Amino acid sequence: MISRNPCLARLKAGYLFPEIARRRREFAAAHPEDPARPETRIISLGVGNTTEPILPHINGGLIEGARRLGKAETYSGYTDEGLLELREGISRVFYGGAFSPAEIFISDGAKCDIGRLQLLFGGGTPVVVQDPSYPVYVDGSVLIGAAGPWGDSGYGGITYLPCTAENGYFPDLDRLPENALFYFCSPNNPTGAAATRRQLEELISAAVRKGCLIVFDAAYAEYIQDPQLPKTIFEIPGSRECAVEVNSFSKSAGFTGVRLGWTVAPKELKYAGGESVNADWGRIAGTVFNGASNIAQAGGIAALREEGLREIRELCGFYLGNAKLIREVLERGGISCVGGDNSPYVWARFPGRDSWDVFAGILEKCRVVTTPGSGFGPSGQSFIRFSAFGRRADVEEACARLEKFLLS
Ligand SMILES: *Cc1c(COP(=O)(O)O)cnc(C)c1O
Repeated sequence: MISRNPCLARLKAGYLFPEIARRRREFAAAHPEDPARPETRIISLGVGNTTEPILPHINGGLIEGARRLGKAETYSGYTDEGLLELREGISRVFYGGAFSPAEIFISDGAKCDIGRLQLLFGGGTPVVVQDPSYPVYVDGSVLIGAAGPWGDSGYGGITYLPCTAENGYFPDLDRLPENALFYFCSPNNPTGAAATRRQLEELISAAVRKGCLIVFDAAYAEYIQDPQLPKTIFEIPGSRECAVEVNSFSKSAGFTGVRLGWTVAPKELKYAGGESVNADWGRIAGTVFNGASNIAQAGGIAALREEGLREIRELCGFYLGNAKLIREVLERGGISCVGGDNSPYVWARFPGRDSWDVFAGILEKCRVVTTPGSGFGPSGQSFIRFSAFGRRADVEEACARLEKFLLS
């Protein structure tokens, strides 16, 4: 019989969220919801999935995109790296026109691009992640075999750089290995911390010094409110020679179910042998990916018009309003937190406690589902991630229960 890819046995993700769901089911079975008592309803602040409808102008773009496919005059098939109008629009709106359309590749989402990106480097490249981190960086590396040699306790070949309260959630770059692929996410999932310009300058200078390539995940860039904080790594001088950026409309325009993202691969970016990363990324996109949905792209084009950008600000502002409620209630309860101001995640610290125990306590006492920080890496131990993605009434109810719990 055919044998299994041994890398699959090394995967740890696919563990965290199913385990949360299992515990939620178990709790719900033991403590059934009573429709007559709203306080028995379980509320989730646990997942990074959007809940609000797509706003009218952007939704109109999607509808128009579907209509165009139904008429001979406007029908379109494969669009390879993406519609020119969308690539130009992304460069203009998010990068001040600094990139040519040939440097912007439209995709079906940032996570999907992250999963394909490692094909550029193969299994032999050392991988570095912030700890805690978004699980696909590690698991994408594991799948391509980039994580060996294996330690008994997990991913021997992946370097975890702790991001903790002690270092302001920014890693010690002296520990960055040479010639490595470094996944860096800001504003961060799960910590909610947004890197400053100074920190990103240090990141780029370390990457150049050590011959590393940065994969900069800017999925939450539109949540940044502080005008001093960079929204893209390409605001930092020197970044074109050592970084690619992935981003998407998922969290900014509510496109988690629509699927539309992009990767910027600058022309200046070269491998050790001098070959072009941009040219290879184009080849990979054409080989194992045939482009994003034309309907989604029409939605993206609408999102980049003035009215669409206003809707993006409105939607991010709504979730940030949820985050503020969550953070305020935690802080009133004496819990120290980071995030929630330039990101939709609040990262709450419970010193000396096990993340899963705190998770269980909040589920039991408040009937609120959260995410245990330890599920994102060893440095997430003793933290809980609160997600601001939720309906306002649910978030208010969850906050009222949390307040009662924390102040009792
Ligand atoms: C949600 C999220 C993404 C977006 O993924 P898509 O595939 O574009 O939906 C990317 N990176 C991080 C860190 C995220 O949390």
